[in-house]
This record gives sequence, structure tokens and C-alpha cells, in this order.
Amino acid sequence: MYMRSDGRVAFVPNSIVRDLLDFSQARGFGLNEIACAHQYSREERCQLAQLIGYSLEGFHELYFVYDKAAAEATHAARQIDPAASGCRDDNCPIHSDGAQADIAKAIHSIPYNRKRKKASVR
Ligand SMILES: [Zn+2]
Repeated sequence: MYMRSDGRVAFVPNSIVRDLLDFSQARGFGLNEIACAHQYSREERCQLAQLIGYSLEGFHELYFVYDKAAAEATHAARQIDPAASGCRDDNCPIHSDGAQADIAKAIHSIPYNRKRKKASVR
């Protein structure tokens, strides 16, 4: 990691990956398309975020980053800036693994309940 010119600690971007992304983005396959594609694992998305140079704060807010990876990133960032931190260092109620699981449960319960109600009417 390194200190960016804006004063934020960030992952060192891999310039090959950045060039590949610029190339593919111009041809209709950029970060939005990657975000919508289902074939990539959380680990792969997490690795890509590091390779394209996410800031520590931004990294903590990515849904696919596990708490463990966020904590490791903070640990590395604090070698450069002891005050560096992301929202999960304060147990973020939105982005932490537990909060994500609660949100996913709430979302998945909606269609399930609707289906069950329809079934009981028949
Ligand atoms: Zn957060």
C-alpha cells in the first residue's frame, strides 16, 4: 500500500491490470459489467479491487470484501499511516460480514413469503 496524493492510503495499482481494464472498458466490459456478472467469486472481486488500487476506505465499503480482508488491509495501511482506518474497523453496521448477512436474509425473505402466501390461497 502507499499514500496517495490525496492523503489516503491505497493499494498500489497494477498498471498492467489498469491498462487491461481501460482496454476492455472501451469495448463494453468494464467495472459495471464485472459487477453484474455472476461468475466471479468474492475472492476474485476482492483481488481485483486491490489490483486496481482501491483506497482503504473504499475497500472497506465493498460488499464482497470479507471482514478479515478489510482488517488485513487496515493492518497494512497502518504501516504507512498509523491513523488509517475504514468503516469496518468501527464495526460498520452496513458493510461488516454480519450486517451483510442480515441484509441478504431480509431481501431473500421477501419473495419467499410472497410465494408462501400465494401457495396458501390455493
Ligand atoms: Zn461501512
